[in-house]
Amino acid sequence: MVANLTSEPFSHVAELDRRHVWHHLTNHYAFDASPPMMVVKGKGLRVWDANGKEYLDAVSGGLWTVNVGYGRTSIAKAVHDQLVDMCFFANSAGNVPGALFAERLLEKMPGMGRVYFSNSGSEANEKAYKIVRQIAHLKYGGKKHKIIYRERDYHGTTIGCLSSTGQFERKNQYGPFAPGFVEMPHCLEYRNQYDDVDYGPRAAQELETTILREGADTVGAVVLEPITAGGGVITPPAGYWETIQAICKKYDVLLHIDEVVCGLGRTGTWFGYQHYGIKPDIVTMAKGVASGYAAISCTVTTDAVFDLFKEDPKDRMGYFRDVSTFGGCASGPVAALENLRIIEDENLLDNTQRVGAYLLAKLHELKSKHELIGDVRGKGLFCGLELVSDRRSKTPVDETVVMKIAADCLEQGVMIGRTNRSFRDFNNTIALAPALIATEQDIDQIVASIDDALSRV
Ligand code: PMP
Repeated sequence: MVANLTSEPFSHVAELDRRHVWHHLTNHYAFDASPPMMVVKGKGLRVWDANGKEYLDAVSGGLWTVNVGYGRTSIAKAVHDQLVDMCFFANSAGNVPGALFAERLLEKMPGMGRVYFSNSGSEANEKAYKIVRQIAHLKYGGKKHKIIYRERDYHGTTIGCLSSTGQFERKNQYGPFAPGFVEMPHCLEYRNQYDDVDYGPRAAQELETTILREGADTVGAVVLEPITAGGGVITPPAGYWETIQAICKKYDVLLHIDEVVCGLGRTGTWFGYQHYGIKPDIVTMAKGVASGYAAISCTVTTDAVFDLFKEDPKDRMGYFRDVSTFGGCASGPVAALENLRIIEDENLLDNTQRVGAYLLAKLHELKSKHELIGDVRGKGLFCGLELVSDRRSKTPVDETVVMKIAADCLEQGVMIGRTNRSFRDFNNTIALAPALIATEQDIDQIVASIDDALSRV
């Protein structure tokens, strides 16, 4: 007998939820006053709530995760069969889907050599930070341990990840933070902080300024999102990444790219960094790795990084002394393997490029119609609309305006995303990240709902 999840009346389940569950990013004072939304079914890009209302989900599960869409029976079956054979064993031993997925993943990442499994984006980033810290000890007497991060970037929810996050509202009240993390300025060209014409190289130059200020012999790595996601969907300006890469090389600083959002196809290439011709030392990923069908994240390194941990066979402590219990769950890599097959066999990278270009063009059309839109940004099926109350002064609209637009779209049956409690005074961006199977008709529906909502706000 299997536990029956559907026999309970919704009103009862809703009451249990209201009484017992502490929801993420939720003000429970407001939440308690209205019935919670409960999403009970999904197929393709669409989900249904417990009342049977249908929505087009333009944010892939609310958190840019369900890249291959809902209702993929082949992933469910692969996970089912694997769990029956072998559900879990500590990852100090090997597991079949882990080895197979690592090989397939590394095929997509020329220059990278090893995959370390864990369960969330935050955890993948923590592993990377520990790798950097340990390299400081293995090679530099512990000194080259600092990690530079960028204003507006987000790297996760743990104290270590928050210490490396450039978003005041996510950090506020959770300090004191871990030492050794240093902030550099953002690279949002729309809000150019400099007089220079060549914005990209100028913004990237801030990395060198920060390294020199801290002392190059103390800086081990820089962690950057390829496209800043929750901090405002910030696509990098031209010339940015070339300069970042050159500075990392010059000062022997490891380049860690956080692909938790962009990874596995979101921007039309396997990884966001692959648009910019750079060679990272460490890449972390989570959300799209198995599209939310199982919890899995990866910290991927070059062979050069991995080899540093094998070099001194006499040092009993010289290996990476890290463990993640659920990094041994076989459901993650088996779901990831099937997820990757789907992206390949259904040509979802091509679809993302084609339909993503259509989305961007439609959003530019919307900008010519609505004064409230200050800037349109995006790559692939990952786009943002930055809203301003005055185009000349670029004054950001209040977060409540964006909330109203999102609520209006929801009423129309379209779920859109928005920057949420991130960068102080700049929670003014609508974020769109539909599943990679989106069609032009889906895009038309999403854009029409935003158009209507903007006309009413
Ligand atoms: N990095 C980035 C860029 C993210 O957007 C997120 C989550 N939104 C994380 C890391 C943390 O991932 P998780 O919530 O799985 O810990």
